[in-house]
Amino acid sequence: MSELHYQLDLLKAMNQKLTEKERMYHTVFDSAVGAFLYYSFERNQIVTLGQWSEFFDFDIRDPRDISKLVDAVDDSYSMALRDVLYLEKTGQNTATAECMLKGTKIWLLFRSKIYYGDYGQPADKVVYISNITKIRSQNEELTYMAYYDSMTGLFSRNYFVRLLGEYIRTASETNNVISVMMIDLDDFHKINDGQGMVVGDELIQQFGSYLKELCEKRDVTGCHLHTDVYLLAIYDPSGERTMENLHREIQQRIRKPFKLSNGQDLQVTFSAGVAEYPEASKSAIELINCAEIMVFKSKAMGKNIIQYFNTPVLQEFLRTAELESKLKEAVFRHSFEMYYQPQYFAGNRKLRGVEALIRWKNGNEGMISPAIFIPIAEKNGAIIPIGQWVVEQSIKQHAYWRKRYGASYIMSINISALQYSREDFVDSVIGLIKKYDVTPSEIELEITETILIEDFQAVYDKLKILRDFGIRISLDDFGTGFSSLSYLKKLPIDTLKIDKSFIDTVLADPATRVITEAIINMVKALGFESVAEGVEEEKQYEYLHSIGCDVIQGYYFGKPLSAEELETVLSSAFSSPLG
Ligand code: C2E
Ligand code: CA
Ligand code: CA
Repeated sequence: MSELHYQLDLLKAMNQKLTEKERMYHTVFDSAVGAFLYYSFERNQIVTLGQWSEFFDFDIRDPRDISKLVDAVDDSYSMALRDVLYLEKTGQNTATAECMLKGTKIWLLFRSKIYYGDYGQPADKVVYISNITKIRSQNEELTYMAYYDSMTGLFSRNYFVRLLGEYIRTASETNNVISVMMIDLDDFHKINDGQGMVVGDELIQQFGSYLKELCEKRDVTGCHLHTDVYLLAIYDPSGERTMENLHREIQQRIRKPFKLSNGQDLQVTFSAGVAEYPEASKSAIELINCAEIMVFKSKAMGKNIIQYFNTPVLQEFLRTAELESKLKEAVFRHSFEMYYQPQYFAGNRKLRGVEALIRWKNGNEGMISPAIFIPIAEKNGAIIPIGQWVVEQSIKQHAYWRKRYGASYIMSINISALQYSREDFVDSVIGLIKKYDVTPSEIELEITETILIEDFQAVYDKLKILRDFGIRISLDDFGTGFSSLSYLKKLPIDTLKIDKSFIDTVLADPATRVITEAIINMVKALGFESVAEGVEEEKQYEYLHSIGCDVIQGYYFGKPLSAEELETVLSSAFSSPLG
């Protein structure tokens, strides 16, 4: 009897343990993300667990109902899913399937696992079902992004570079040529800044989509490199004209404007650069760089053209790039020095003043001419700190000499257009004149007609303030720009410098003589002072004096000199230094 009791107690305890375990399993499954299908081989019993009801609007209570699950997924996935669900299938199995569940399309991942009993017989099977829609779409997006540019549908930069690398590898074995063209829309930033990014983006997108169609039609590989820049590559172009023809076709398209969604018509032009493997380079990145350098050249030559790779252009670019980086360092280290070239009155040959001219001492390379580095500094903005230094240095030097020699003369300082266009320019010059306590009328600013690219009124207003303060204004390089006489009489200036190119030919060329005489007469009529620069010979001086030119500057009277060397000139001009 006690034996029976014992047996009963044991059974009770086992039962309790079982239901505790069951409860525990239910809790775990319910809190898991996903649905489960559990099948017991022993009992031929099937149950659903976890978030089943959130996924499916049917239940499975009998092994025969499994077909409901297969029916729920898209037909093309049912075979794979049947394999996973097939009860006697051994081991582990997975399948992904797209299903319409409760009205929405989602992706499900099915994973099954069979657990075996002590004697190796299948005991239980669990199928775990999870919703992977989100992860999958992220992955798809990532894969798409890796290959394509989402804005235009063209290849992405990275994938294009990879393809180009592969083309080069093949071409190196088969002795083929690969042609790469870079396309850069002209004045895109004006559209983007002026009309907004939405318009800019739509243009990039429409132009890119057009290129994509073209690529498909012409068997060209194309990519959207960045902003308004695209690349096209042709593997084994049949003949030299392939890129040219492609370029012509794009040119033809852009004759028609792009129609934007706001109803606006937008017309664009583009600059192109072409480089070929193996001529320009044997690496994909370098080939693209070469095409880019040719685009720079196209832009510099006035835009809306195509430039083909050539070595001199590349070398010129590399030299400029090298100078540019050295120039940055020079600005940092103040590796500049001011030279001063004397100017004399033509009549009495007395010293009128000096023109301050910058010199760059570039280590081993020696002096680099400002004619070379000033244009570079104007392009990359380095002219701002350089110009600032020039103005301060010249005014400071003038204050020193003025005290030392006690005589009045003019210090002429060259001002670049970019420097002049700065809002703080006027204040900074006046500030320096005050700081060094010099007489404003002894300071002359040499400006060129290029400052007039800015709004005339703004240019005028600044000149007016400077002149009202007493500073002299000289118009440099006269005759080389657009030299419109109508603005000349409106500009508040004191002096006009006739460009050296006139002086060079004035003796030999009668036409130049006529123009030079006309300029000098006009200068007189307007009440300005005339300066001839680049006067190298006595005959030139005599002629210029005879036609009434006021001031002479040039090697004939003296080359630009260092501050130390110029002191000899000043000493003799103003007898001897004071003290
Ligand atoms: P620029 O303002 O027309 O200066 C006159 C240039 O002609 C100077 O060249 C001067 O050395 C040179 N020159 C003067 N007389 C003769 C001559 O008789 N024969 C010949 N062959 N040349 C003569 P430099 O010093 O090489 O300067 C070249 C240009 O660089 C200047 O032309 C000016 O545009 C620019 N520059 C020079 N210094 C500065 C500066 O401090 N600031 C700015 N913004 N530009 C400067
Ligand atoms: Ca000058
Ligand atoms: Ca000049």
